[in-house]
Amino acid sequence: MTVARPIYLDHAATTPVDPRVVEAMLPYFTDAFGNAASRTHSYGWAAEEAVERARAQVARVIAADPKEITWTSGATESNNLAIKGVVEYLAESADHVVTVITEHKAVLDSCKYLERRGTKVTYLPVDREGLVTPQQVADAITDKTALVSVMLANNETGVIQPLAEIGAVCRARKVLFHTDATQAFAKIPIDVDAMNIDLLSASAHKTYGPKGVGALYVRRRKPRVRLAPQIHGGGHERGNRSGTLNVPGIVGFGTAAELAHTAMADETARLRGLRDHLRDRILSENEHVFVNGSPQRVLPGHLNISFAYIEGESLLMALKDVALSSGSACTSASLEPSYVLRAMGLNDELAHSSLRMTLGRFTTRDEIDRVADLLRRHVTRLREMSPLWEMVQDGIDLNSIQWAAH
Ligand SMILES: *Cc1c(COP(=O)(O)O)cnc(C)c1O
Repeated sequence: MTVARPIYLDHAATTPVDPRVVEAMLPYFTDAFGNAASRTHSYGWAAEEAVERARAQVARVIAADPKEITWTSGATESNNLAIKGVVEYLAESADHVVTVITEHKAVLDSCKYLERRGTKVTYLPVDREGLVTPQQVADAITDKTALVSVMLANNETGVIQPLAEIGAVCRARKVLFHTDATQAFAKIPIDVDAMNIDLLSASAHKTYGPKGVGALYVRRRKPRVRLAPQIHGGGHERGNRSGTLNVPGIVGFGTAAELAHTAMADETARLRGLRDHLRDRILSENEHVFVNGSPQRVLPGHLNISFAYIEGESLLMALKDVALSSGSACTSASLEPSYVLRAMGLNDELAHSSLRMTLGRFTTRDEIDRVADLLRRHVTRLREMSPLWEMVQDGIDLNSIQWAAH
């Protein structure tokens, strides 16, 4: 007997590798196993040719030149290389970074590392929809600013920042502009020239490619971006990032990028239809539920919802047949409410009572309907057990209650 696996609604965490991507990768583990840096024989040449084909495939997604793509181990490394690399290269001449409090930890922790070494960092707040404005960025830039780093789409909410407008501000002020585009890469249109992006991070495993391979776009002209490498060695990748290339992974990334880019319009329409159906069912079948993030500026597969008067963890446990994320992050000691939702003005209770559902290429309408059914059943059941919910039903204003201190 096979046990049914949970329905997978956590595509923002990672995606399955598309079977066509696996197929493209396989020869590079066996017959074509060469080191792309081996210049003296056909094994090396074949590997290099495959790597360069993938470089062009990834570059095409963002309308870049293949020479501007540096391979990395993933978006965490790309973000580290972009932020630390630019600031370290510019050294004393520019020692200020502007970023946003809802960025991924790989951006925030790179900034914190630089702060400990004397760099000033401005963390911009967001509004209730999770958005930052170009004006906020303009106001934060000083004559010491080395870099602005604003993500394209948020991993928790899917909210899409006004990147072209922010890029225009950075270009006018002659400040380098980095974006963590990991969630949005090959899912929404990106043009590094039109958006004035100087550095861009992406990762294969968020778009049906393998884990452990990513890319950093580094602009070569107008302006030419210079980086201090963070990994030293044989001088691979134009000196930006040493280390023998992960040829099968890179081939997988290239194939995944091309597949997603080609199917972008169809996939967007299909995912948006499914996501809207799920959202509409949840909103019509449950009281006191709130969608988090901008309703317009959002990735097609993302849905982040708060269920008031329910603990997200209890809901997560009740939904053991669905793989999804809650608005709480397990830190070593305690359950912290999501810093992204908190930054958008949600109180701790609502942040704790939120779920992130992210749909993907293989999600079906039947799965979505099963999840909506499960949610209705368990939301009702958990609320019936909740004393708070009883008080709300009795018309008591919870804000008027003086809770005993503990
Ligand atoms: C997943 C993710 C990362 C980290 O990517 P890895 O390749 O797993 O290191 C960085 N930023 C965002 C927005 C992400 O979603």
